[in-house]
Amino acid sequence: AASFNDIQTKDIKHHFSPFSNNKELAEHGSRVINKAHGVYIYDDNGNKLLDAMAGLWCVNIGYGRQELVDVATKQMKELPYYNLFFKTTHAPAAKLAEKIASLAPTHMNKVFFTGSGSEANDTIFRMVRRFWDLKGQPTKKQFISRKNAYHGSTVVGASLGGMGYMHEQGDLPIEGISHIDQPYYFKEGGDDTQEAFGIKAAQSLETKILEIGENNIAAFIAEPFQGAGGVIVPPASYWPEIKRILAKYDILLVVDEVISGFGRTGEWFASQYYDLKPDLMPIAKGLSSGYLPIGGVIVGDRVAHTLIEKGGDFNHGFTYSGHPVAAAVALKNIELLESEGVIERVKNDTSPYLQKRWQELAAHPIVGETRGLGMVAGLELVKNKDTKERIAPDAKAGGICRDFSMANGLIMRPCGDTMIISPPLVITKAEIDELVEKAVKTLDETAKYFNL
Ligand code: PLP
Repeated sequence: AASFNDIQTKDIKHHFSPFSNNKELAEHGSRVINKAHGVYIYDDNGNKLLDAMAGLWCVNIGYGRQELVDVATKQMKELPYYNLFFKTTHAPAAKLAEKIASLAPTHMNKVFFTGSGSEANDTIFRMVRRFWDLKGQPTKKQFISRKNAYHGSTVVGASLGGMGYMHEQGDLPIEGISHIDQPYYFKEGGDDTQEAFGIKAAQSLETKILEIGENNIAAFIAEPFQGAGGVIVPPASYWPEIKRILAKYDILLVVDEVISGFGRTGEWFASQYYDLKPDLMPIAKGLSSGYLPIGGVIVGDRVAHTLIEKGGDFNHGFTYSGHPVAAAVALKNIELLESEGVIERVKNDTSPYLQKRWQELAAHPIVGETRGLGMVAGLELVKNKDTKERIAPDAKAGGICRDFSMANGLIMRPCGDTMIISPPLVITKAEIDELVEKAVKTLDETAKYFNL
């Protein structure tokens, strides 16, 4: 039987772990992570791991930045907490809102703060319905989302999301939310060209709108590229067609930038990368590089104008909306990304390098496809490159590949049979070389394990 250290024992006895099989954890114990620096994390057995997932796609600035510690300490001494309800505000929230508005697409100038991405999507659900009520179109209540999307773990977040294994627990989705197919070319493209498939996938939105009735649709929500769904990058034809359909039926566009925001694509927001004009954008993660929990909704002028001029009151908010310490840290994080030119470097230098090196993996015998953009990438594990046959049933190969990867000192994440990465934006070319070298070793070992 496995033996556990003090922390693992406490964890097994008293900590209920998120997104884990707690029964299996009780048998195997969790890995205890105890420090981090740059792009590396360390466990309490002295193992050093290159964190190619930046935690949960969030540590954009990298680990161990003293500037963020200093700003948090200072803010905690001055004003550790005060709420923003009932006609009060404070400098960290106001300054952060101004900074975010300055980076967002030009038609987006207001920010509503939350504690997380899930809360941001819950907030949007209510904002959108309130918007249409105030516009005198109260039948516009339904949301259209996509299969395999991830929009959070609250009841609304998981309902907007399209993860079947989440819907199974808790009778989700709630009413008023339906899901169309994702633009997953590798899996569903068949004989179509990328271009044709992208248009077809987008047109399933129009089919759904007509099925539900155009006067009943409030908003379409989507990640610019699907993250947790397996880094699904849409064909170039997809977003222009989606934009055309939304404009035709006057439906709001919610672009979930929780992963893609704050530099992941080499632009501040993926909406700029894809030339989207969202009405609302949930943000979190990279906003504070994960150093403290904070999220928000960036509100476009059209929605803000109606909610504020025609309504004014919005009966919604969180104790930790715009938390001063989290907001101060987020502002400093953004200032560091700016002053150190991190996002320009991603765009012009490190992300083209990462994508070039990642593409080399496509030649590996068990890789069916590599894909990615900016500082995010994925690859498909297959037994047969031509037929795309999977290596083992129930996406078992992904988990095995992850275990080899961890043993090699590299954190990649499996999404079914897709292995994904989303490293800190500060990763250097030498560290990218190390990442790719470890990924190759991991793929070799996975192939050998399955006798391929
Ligand atoms: N939206 C997207 C696209 C996400 O990837 C996530 C988290 O992974 C969320 C929303 C939810 O954010 P949080 O975990 O902060 O609630």
